[in-house]
Amino acid sequence: MPIERVNLYSEPDPIRGYSIPFIGDIKISQGRNGRYSHFAYRVGPKLVDDRFAVDFELPIGTEILSTKSGIVQWVEDHHDGSFESTCINDYYNLENKPSPNFVIIDHDPGVRTIYSHFRKNGVTVHSGNYVEEGQLIGYTGKSGWIGPIPHLHVETVKINIGTDRLSVPMIFDRKPLHE
Ligand SMILES: [Zn+2]
Repeated sequence: MPIERVNLYSEPDPIRGYSIPFIGDIKISQGRNGRYSHFAYRVGPKLVDDRFAVDFELPIGTEILSTKSGIVQWVEDHHDGSFESTCINDYYNLENKPSPNFVIIDHDPGVRTIYSHFRKNGVTVHSGNYVEEGQLIGYTGKSGWIGPIPHLHVETVKINIGTDRLSVPMIFDRKPLHE
């Protein structure tokens, strides 16, 4: 199923206070409004808004730290496959799409933060856990559609009615805190 890009003109207020979620050099492989996938699109009836996501290029196996404290809402880390392509439509046209391994944490009221592309069995927290800022939550991998290069995808979203989501700008104004 091909995606259809949409222009969204509303921009939620940015949220501050995120710490960098790893120790090491910061290399952004795709920033806000990035050309590979950080835009809004429809897949069938579903609106996916990824405008303000950030991809940090990192070596496989890098320790990922929680950017803030919060409650873990959802974890998947049993997926195996990955798919590398610069065109997100190539992924949506696949019959068997490899799923990403991810962690979703509620750091702030009304929004949730997604961390994606962990390695298989590479998540160290569970749904319902309270996590501190700087706490280890898992290890990078290359699960799911990874664009042209393995990375950590981080994004805060507002969940609307149904499965639609709206991307929220994040401000990384804190250095990484290690547990
Ligand atoms: Zn991304």
